[in-house]
Amino acid sequence: MLLKSLYFLVLALILTSCGAQVDKKDVKTFVLGLKQGDESFKPLIRHLIEDYNTNLGLTVLEFSETMDGANSPILITKGLEQRDGKVGWGQWFASTERSGTTVAVPGVKTSETTSYSLQVEFDEDFLVSNEKEVKEGELSLEVRKLFAHEVGHGFQLQHAPELTDVMYYDISGDKDFAPYWPRVRAFFGVN
Ligand SMILES: [Zn+2]
Repeated sequence: MLLKSLYFLVLALILTSCGAQVDKKDVKTFVLGLKQGDESFKPLIRHLIEDYNTNLGLTVLEFSETMDGANSPILITKGLEQRDGKVGWGQWFASTERSGTTVAVPGVKTSETTSYSLQVEFDEDFLVSNEKEVKEGELSLEVRKLFAHEVGHGFQLQHAPELTDVMYYDISGDKDFAPYWPRVRAFFGVN
């Protein structure tokens, strides 16, 4: 009798200590879509995305013609600089979903998926005035810096203290992209 209750006690301990097994998965698929702004900015956005992926050496940004197919909105706002004193914003989002059981049952495997997305906002006049300076089919360095900086925030990068870093809070002046790309690659778990 004692042996039998001991057996159940051990069994109960095993079950509770194991807890529910959780399969954790991160989904880092960023599909950008133009949520606010003139349609005529779409070729510029596509070009910026292509340039970004090429320099990173990984395809981490995609573009969707419609917001339905996108998870990461781009807003191009007239008068953003006057409104906020900044020519851009970038932020990241993460949402976690659990499948299987809602209540953790010992020994039952559940899966947990965290999906990441981002939102960026750019000042319309900043894009227009800088893009005017470059030849057709080329990108302005100022716009490339802004795009990389705000998308960087979307990939959870914080401001860097070095003046020449793309993630320095002020994007004007000479910037060195070299320290930036490895940090983005690290976010995607790639060396
Ligand atoms: Zn910033």
